[in-house]
Amino acid sequence: MPMTSQTDFPSVVDHQFINNQWVPSAGIRLLDVMNPYREERIAQVTAGDAADVDAAVQAAQQAQPDWQALGGAARAKFLEGFADALEARRDSIITLSATNNGKPLAEAGIDLDDAIACYRYYAGQAKALDDRQGELVSVEMEGVEARTYHDPVGVVGLIAPWNFPLVTSAWKLAPALAAGCTAVLKPSEVTPLPERVLAEIALEIGLPAGVLNLLNGDGEGIGAPLTNHPGVDKISFTGSNRVGEAVMQAAAARTASVSLELGGKSPILVMEDADPEQAADWVMAGIYFNAGQICSATSRLLVHEDVAEALYAALAERMDALTLGDPLAEDTDLGPLTSAKQRDAVQRYLDLAEQEGLTVVRDGQHRTLPAQGYFLAPTLYRDVPVESRLWQEEIFGPVLCGRSVASEAEAIQLANDSVFGLAATVISGDPERAKRIGRQLKAGSIWFNSEQLVLPETAWGGFKRSGIGRELGPWGVSAYLEVKHVIGPA
Ligand code: NAD
Repeated sequence: MPMTSQTDFPSVVDHQFINNQWVPSAGIRLLDVMNPYREERIAQVTAGDAADVDAAVQAAQQAQPDWQALGGAARAKFLEGFADALEARRDSIITLSATNNGKPLAEAGIDLDDAIACYRYYAGQAKALDDRQGELVSVEMEGVEARTYHDPVGVVGLIAPWNFPLVTSAWKLAPALAAGCTAVLKPSEVTPLPERVLAEIALEIGLPAGVLNLLNGDGEGIGAPLTNHPGVDKISFTGSNRVGEAVMQAAAARTASVSLELGGKSPILVMEDADPEQAADWVMAGIYFNAGQICSATSRLLVHEDVAEALYAALAERMDALTLGDPLAEDTDLGPLTSAKQRDAVQRYLDLAEQEGLTVVRDGQHRTLPAQGYFLAPTLYRDVPVESRLWQEEIFGPVLCGRSVASEAEAIQLANDSVFGLAATVISGDPERAKRIGRQLKAGSIWFNSEQLVLPETAWGGFKRSGIGRELGPWGVSAYLEVKHVIGPA
């Protein structure tokens, strides 16, 4: 297959990137890749096959010892190379992400900045790893020398979802390569196009063959064979709870380690001392970014009854002002959902809300949708009963559920009353109070008087059913390292 560059992509992606070569996939099924705004097929991608996984794992196994032996400082240069090469392709990647995922250009730009910052951050962590090797451990026993080393886990399988192409893969690939692991990366079959650029960059920067192998396919063709492969030492998975649990079961069969980044139903608490206009901006950013298809979407609003009316009025005004339309148009605030399947899944919750008689602040009755595209109207329900499935389950769309609370204690109790614990936001006129409330919430990321602020230096991951382990920060690289002690007479 001829190499393609930048926004170019072949109409049929039937080759896999293994050992620095594009080789024909053993898969015989082809899957449609859509433009969700135009509702048009823009490419077809192989569903993959277990034989592709075998070849990729073998290449990764062969490459791993030399990649580890290179040392952190040398690996850092390649990570910088990824960051620079992504930057150089800025405009084309943003256009491609917006086209394949449906997110507005500005959001695709934020995603790309996130991915670039992640590769740069882990270049720094790779260098720092060299300094941590062989650190002396202080022990009580006399005449004994103990040192700690950090070895890479080995070959890692990295499985990504469709909501943040290039970002969720960066959060895995950058720390894995920094640690000295070699990787088999599987992007989502829904948005396989942006990640292809990583293979192109690997060749451009001279990444040693087999360090990054990129396999296109679905769960059946690539995901399951990868999680079951005995040559894969660790799986890092981001996606749904249903699949995450299957991945964990497969890994358990051979005691392989897993990191799981799963779903959420994150709360946003607006206290009575908050400015409702300012709070409304944060509430909007927490749920309507990426059409609500964010694992950390703050989709449960807990608003103090003293500011509830003012907040709902401010939200309605902002929702009416949102422009829905072509992701490639500069003035678009909200694009379509990424697939017809996701649009239909969210629609089922909207139908349920109607059956349950939920109180609507804004929904599809309040606006005309664009004539084409997998759109749903930004929707807001208030006074949602805690028994409602819309209150309890991840909807993964532009749907916000609100409830009033009479006290701080009630807000905290309801915020923590969830099987998930990925993130939470607290908005208060008193930042110290917001932080104090945040400390009482059971979630991995707490934002106070801000929203969805994610930086490569800070940890990412969930309490409870939102996942296992942490990405980003030094914890991100630890997820791909084994600790080794060397001890004996001094
Ligand atoms: P999904 O679980 O359907 O798919 C995720 C990935 O797993 C895809 O690449 C898919 O092909 C693959 N897969 C499917 N079946 C598999 C199997 N049997 N074995 C191995 N891999 C398999 O999820 P999705 O619909 O792509 O993404 C949406 C979900 O992802 C939401 O629940 C969201 O909350 C979650 N998510 C979580 C985070 C986080 O950081 N916690 C970030 C983004 C998305």
